[in-house]
Amino acid sequence: MEIIIGRHGTQKTPITDPTVSRQHCKVTVNGDGTYVIENLSSSGTKVDGLDIIRTTVRLNSRIQLGPSFSTTLAELIGVHAPSQTSAPKNPASTEASSGATKPRTAEVKTFDISHLRQVWEDFNSTNLEMAEEQRKTNLVRTGLGIFTMCAMPTIFFFGPVGYALTGLGVIGNIYSFAGMRNAETAEERQCRQDAFDDAWVCPNPECGHSIIAKNYKMLVRNHQSCPYCKCKYIEK
Ligand SMILES: [Zn+2]
Repeated sequence: MEIIIGRHGTQKTPITDPTVSRQHCKVTVNGDGTYVIENLSSSGTKVDGLDIIRTTVRLNSRIQLGPSFSTTLAELIGVHAPSQTSAPKNPASTEASSGATKPRTAEVKTFDISHLRQVWEDFNSTNLEMAEEQRKTNLVRTGLGIFTMCAMPTIFFFGPVGYALTGLGVIGNIYSFAGMRNAETAEERQCRQDAFDDAWVCPNPECGHSIIAKNYKMLVRNHQSCPYCKCKYIEK
């Protein structure tokens, strides 16, 4: 079952706070009694103080919608929360007393990493483009160099024609270095690398640690979670 939370949501308790979006987030009630919350608003959704995109949530988790509105999930969807303090001393007994909540699984936050596919693809396709462009420039330079070297001896055989060919080669050579730009300067390349490094980070806003995997394929295949904050990566 899905419940849309917001000023125009389908949740039990009406929300009138104008800072809350009309459709602010979505709560999915799973068959096994667990809850998943997903942010739908540009002003953000927090669970127990952490910005989330999509995560499992407990009935007594504190949900903050936008900058000011805050309540528990239980109040929001009108379900009785099991009596529990914010820091359960004995998680095992809590779990046993309430089949509806599963605190152990709710502790692990999940973050969508699918936006990193685009980050990687953009960076990689530009890398390939630049390499191809540079290859073409190098080909022209080498070709003109060889042409000039071959033209020089013809001066001895053809006189003025040889001079003309050599002159043409030299001018071409000068142009190929002075007139033709490299695909990107070292500075431009570094700038692009920095932008990629800034985006290639753990999607958990509390963490933001650099991702170890060198590309998106490796990230999906080998790194299903963050080694620093232990959050779980999911691909939507
Ligand atoms: Zn992390």
